[in-house]
Parts: sequence; C-alpha cells; structure tokens
Amino acid sequence: MAFKLEHPYHQLTVFLGTKHLKEKALVPALEALGIQCVATLVDTDQYGTFTGEVERKGSVLETLKKKTKEVFEKVPDARLALASEGTFGPHPQIGFISSDHEALLLVDKAMGLQIYVDEISLETNLGEKVLKSFEELGSFLESVKFPSHGLIVQPLENQKVMFKGITDLNALEKAILKSIDHSPTRQAKVTTDMRAHFNPTRMKVIEQVGRKLVKRLSSFCNKCGLLGFWPVEPVEGLPCAECGQPSEAVKAYRWGCLKCSYQEIRPREDGKTQIDPVHCQGCNP
Ligand SMILES: [Zn+2]
Ligand SMILES: [Zn+2]
Repeated sequence: MAFKLEHPYHQLTVFLGTKHLKEKALVPALEALGIQCVATLVDTDQYGTFTGEVERKGSVLETLKKKTKEVFEKVPDARLALASEGTFGPHPQIGFISSDHEALLLVDKAMGLQIYVDEISLETNLGEKVLKSFEELGSFLESVKFPSHGLIVQPLENQKVMFKGITDLNALEKAILKSIDHSPTRQAKVTTDMRAHFNPTRMKVIEQVGRKLVKRLSSFCNKCGLLGFWPVEPVEGLPCAECGQPSEAVKAYRWGCLKCSYQEIRPREDGKTQIDPVHCQGCNP
C-alpha cells in the first residue's frame, strides 16, 4: 500500500502581508505542500520605501517581524503569517556588482515558530541615471528592461515631486520634463522601480526564495520530527586538492532544530569536497 505522509501545514492557509501582489510569486511553491497562500493588505510602505520617503529602520528581520505582527492583527484567527522584504545594493561578498537580497519570514503562532530564509541574487535591473534632457536616456532604458520593468522619476534635489510606476514612454517623457522644471539645476533622476509588481526580475527572485522556504518547511529534525531543520552555521576547512591542508572555505554546515537542541554536521550540498590549489594558502601563498 502506498504510504504518503502529509505535511503538517497541509490544508492550512498562510496570510501574506503585502500590497504589491507578491502572492503571485509565492502561491505556486506553497501550493506544492498543500498550503494556501492568501494576500492580506498590509501597508508595507510604513516600514520603509525604496524611494526614501519613509526611511527603513532596523534590520531586515525586525521589519519582517513587524509585518507578520500586523498580519496577525488584521487576521486574528490566523495561525500562519508570512512577510517578504527585499534590499538592493552591492553584493556583500563580490562588492561593486548590484544584487537583490530577498528574505521571507513565516511565523507559526500555534507552535511559536519563526522560520526565516533568504537568498542573494545577482539578477537585478537596479540602476539610476541623472539627466538634463529626455534624449540623454540613451541605452539606459534597455539596460533596466523598460517598459516591462517600471521606472521612477524625480527632480534631482527634490523628494516631494515623484512619479512612480512608469511603464510607458509618453509618461516617462512627461515625468522627466516636469522633474527638470522642478529642479533648481534642471536635472531629473530616473531610477528603477523595485516594488515587486513593477519588477518581474525581482518577482522571480521572490519565487526562488519561496522555493527555499518550501525546502526548509520540508526538512525535519531527526530527533523530534519538527519541520524547519536547517543549516545554522558554516564549518570551515575544505581541504586543498593538492596538499590536503584545510582552507578557510566552507567544508560543511552545522544543521539545527528550531526547538530542540539536536544538531548535525552535513557536507556541502553542491558536493564540493576540495578547493583548487590556486586558492590554497600553502600551495599558492
Ligand atoms: Zn528537534
Ligand atoms: Zn594546497
């Protein structure tokens, strides 16, 4: 007889706090576990905007906690609340290259669990250009994937005048001309609109981190059986292929349970067991 264990969250509903249609990116992955994902309107702008009218305070995790707390206030009977947060900037390891850091927090009120996952992607159209005329746009539009991706236009020095979510060329031209008129130096700043519903590239990264959440929810503690068993700490010491000396590269991960103290060391998931001697301190100092 076929025997299939049902996921503990099977047939539960998770309420996602969003006003930017992020559920589109998360519904399919969660459905695979039998979890229904429903959007709950939360004015996420109050926790900070990409355009700086509202400053972001606190860490990504703190912001995610505030968002899930608001979901529970809006839906008092909910057991599961979900929130998403993205930040953009130079890649934390590689530097100078733009990256998208996407994080998700799922809170299970009944079990008292906070399940966090994140992902850093180099796939982003992040960009900005300051210009004195519409013609100066040049190849910028192509590089930021306009018009499938939205743009924001404002006078260089003035945050009060702002045109968001622009996806057609006429509107873009008008916004640039108006912004130049409102600028003491007659310069407009054009930036990419990073809000999920104006940014399909970002939606894809949210989808990726959603799949990671499902992976974490499908991983169980070998001792107490709780879901969410996940790497908690890297273990360094990946040996050199030539001399065998341990390097600073990650050899394995210490996995941990959300509730009990059980831990396990597991090798890297990419199967890498050695480093190239080129990166070895001994062979190539
Ligand atoms: Zn456990
Ligand atoms: Zn070596």
